[in-house]
Amino acid sequence: MDAQVAVIGTGSIGSMTLWQLARAGVSAIGFEQFGIAHDRAAAGGESRIFRTAYLEGPEYVPLLRRAHELWRELEAESGRALLTLNGGLMIGDRDSEAMRNVQASIDDFGLRHEVLDHTAMASRYPQHAIDPDEIAILDLDAGVLRPEFAVAAATYRARELAAAIRPHEQVTAIEPAADSVLIRTDRGAYAVEQAVVTTGPWTARFAPALASHIRPRRLVMTWYQAEDPELWRSEACPIFIRDNEDAHIFGIPTLDGGSVKVAPHSDDDGYLADADELDRNVEVDLVEPVNAAVARYLPGLIPEPVRVSAYMDAYTSDGHGVVGRAPGAENVWLLGAFSGHGFKMATAFGQVASDLVRHGTTDLPIGHLDPARFGG
Ligand SMILES: Cc1cc2nc3c(=O)[nH]c(=O)nc-3n(C[C@H](O)[C@H](O)[C@H](O)COP(=O)(O)OP(=O)(O)OC[C@H]3O[C@@H](n4cnc5c(N)ncnc54)[C@H](O)[C@@H]3O)c2cc1C
Repeated sequence: MDAQVAVIGTGSIGSMTLWQLARAGVSAIGFEQFGIAHDRAAAGGESRIFRTAYLEGPEYVPLLRRAHELWRELEAESGRALLTLNGGLMIGDRDSEAMRNVQASIDDFGLRHEVLDHTAMASRYPQHAIDPDEIAILDLDAGVLRPEFAVAAATYRARELAAAIRPHEQVTAIEPAADSVLIRTDRGAYAVEQAVVTTGPWTARFAPALASHIRPRRLVMTWYQAEDPELWRSEACPIFIRDNEDAHIFGIPTLDGGSVKVAPHSDDDGYLADADELDRNVEVDLVEPVNAAVARYLPGLIPEPVRVSAYMDAYTSDGHGVVGRAPGAENVWLLGAFSGHGFKMATAFGQVASDLVRHGTTDLPIGHLDPARFGG
């Protein structure tokens, strides 16, 4: 055998999987078709939101808590600052489903938070214009992650702990047998005991039984210039998510001292037939709704982007990832299709992958992510 485990794709989840396997003393090889911590898939674009009061559902809270602990452990082991907890504002109509989910996460798990009315928002966070039916909930355990640095930190730490990393080597086939898996690449073939597939936007390629439920999707990011950069520093400006009938945007304070990322939180566009089709040129009509939301809700930003770029993630039909045994293969595990919200939990999913490889099960709650929910 070339190693106990092959990790296919060393992006967000794969890098954390390698780190966790290496920490546990499991010999592993990570294959990556591009360079280490590249920005051509789901982990590019400078920043990712971390939050605990979860509008996607309270079942994620234990994963988020474990992820938080592990982000701090990765920072300590790598000597890199990766997570800044500067709070998170969820702004939306009082009675919307998203705001009810945030409140449910808070109530179920006793999360640290504040509810802010119009007066409090105006005095503390004048960056935001608030509509009459909106409220804001400040999640005190939210903030900003640095995705490229995090992937690099986990990958290099895994390598220090004896994992083998093979960048610029594309996996072309995964062939499971009774007690082993053969990994074919564009450079050779490797025999391992188990494989972990963490191919992000390319998830469906290695899970054909799930292909009708998983699609890659392009996501466009836009950065806007601040009139007064002081107001938009992380000390003064929590990350924010705004969901109402007119605007679905999220924002991240300035990391370069002048530009603020404001991007669409969700819409129905951007699906690709195949992840290889990603076009990184962005059409102007995609940016116009964000410009309009910036003009209306963020008066201190100039509503014309200074930077635009495109990335992608795989999405499932129900908006939740797939984590578990790959359909039809005893010794292949699948963690992917995190549907635009997986980065914050990448460290916890790294632990999940390591648990599954070593024990066939995990104590972390992943029942709602079982690939079997799609049949196949
Ligand atoms: C623009 C954008 C903004 C987002 N914002 C947030 C946010 O604020 N908070 C949050 O929590 N989440 C966010 N997400 C979602 C989150 O970033 C993703 O869910 C997460 O990064 C997915 O990780 P992954 O490991 O599945 O994919 P990736 O990080 O893309 O890793 C997959 C890796 O597999 C490699 N690969 C694929 N096929 C092969 C092959 N055949 N051989 C070798 N290597 C291969 C790829 O090159 C890639 O490096 C966002 C996503 C995007 C795109």
